[in-house]
Amino acid sequence: MIITVASGKGGTGKTTVAVNLGLALAREGQLPVHIIDCDVEEPNAALFLHPTLKESEEVGQLIPEVNLDLCTFCGRCAEVCQYSAIAVVAQRVLVFPELCHGCGSCALNCPEGAISEKLDVMGVLEIGHAGPIAFAQGRMNVGEAMAVPIIRQLKRRAIPEDHDGRVIILDAPPGTSCPVVESMRGSDYVLMVTEPTPFGLHDLRLAVQVARNELGLPVGVVINREGIGDEGVDAYCEEEGIPILMRIPLDRRIAEAYSEGIPMVEVLPEYREAFLALYREIAQRVGMEVTP
Ligand code: SF4
Ligand code: SF4
Repeated sequence: MIITVASGKGGTGKTTVAVNLGLALAREGQLPVHIIDCDVEEPNAALFLHPTLKESEEVGQLIPEVNLDLCTFCGRCAEVCQYSAIAVVAQRVLVFPELCHGCGSCALNCPEGAISEKLDVMGVLEIGHAGPIAFAQGRMNVGEAMAVPIIRQLKRRAIPEDHDGRVIILDAPPGTSCPVVESMRGSDYVLMVTEPTPFGLHDLRLAVQVARNELGLPVGVVINREGIGDEGVDAYCEEEGIPILMRIPLDRRIAEAYSEGIPMVEVLPEYREAFLALYREIAQRVGMEVTP
């Protein structure tokens, strides 16, 4: 089962939920657990999991490279590019990597065979484990504009083709933009983490719009820091038929553990059962056998 943990904005406790859910399940030892940090601009699940990273590989996108000794400056490559990512100006061929989608059309259509493809490195994938948890994260290079190709390759690399009987937890980037959509795509369930405040509600609405209405995925909510706001999130969820699967109260002990990089299930054992119950609820909702 693939569960994406998402939130309409940063700082709601999304990574906290992803990490603690994974740790609670792994401690039970009945199911292989994977945690994949798809927040490639700012991955921080590793701060709590302290994984041992065993593999690292550069990732990016193939972009055209033009051999000017073969090029006749006919302009065919620019004509076929749907994204205006290549232009022929006087006796030069300009490639704009930030616009290129790596479709390969220019190379295919070059009559002189002057275009080859090279990897434009955008970031790195890191694979390892945190105890029994299989861990993977992507990290985007500073200044890079596109996170989607990295997330796509991270998921392809880290999610086993046959993942039946495994729990794959994806920690999505915050927000509702393309990287979030890419993270959620193909998930069995999306868990939205929100705070019970007007700002939290505003961003939750947007995130639900993406997950449920655009991608057609089932959605449930975790309310974090309950007690700081109002009843708006409760009312919205009731109105929309969205289940609230867990409530984590505002608790100084959780905040202190967080500030030291310690997952709450390590210091407050009662949360182990709470996160297992969360998993069981999700599994039942997607019609999967409930283990443990
Ligand atoms: S299609 Fe090939 S030959 Fe024509 S301008 Fe582009 S690179 Fe040069
Ligand atoms: S690979 Fe595709 S998007 Fe990139 S420059 Fe060539 S035709 Fe354009």
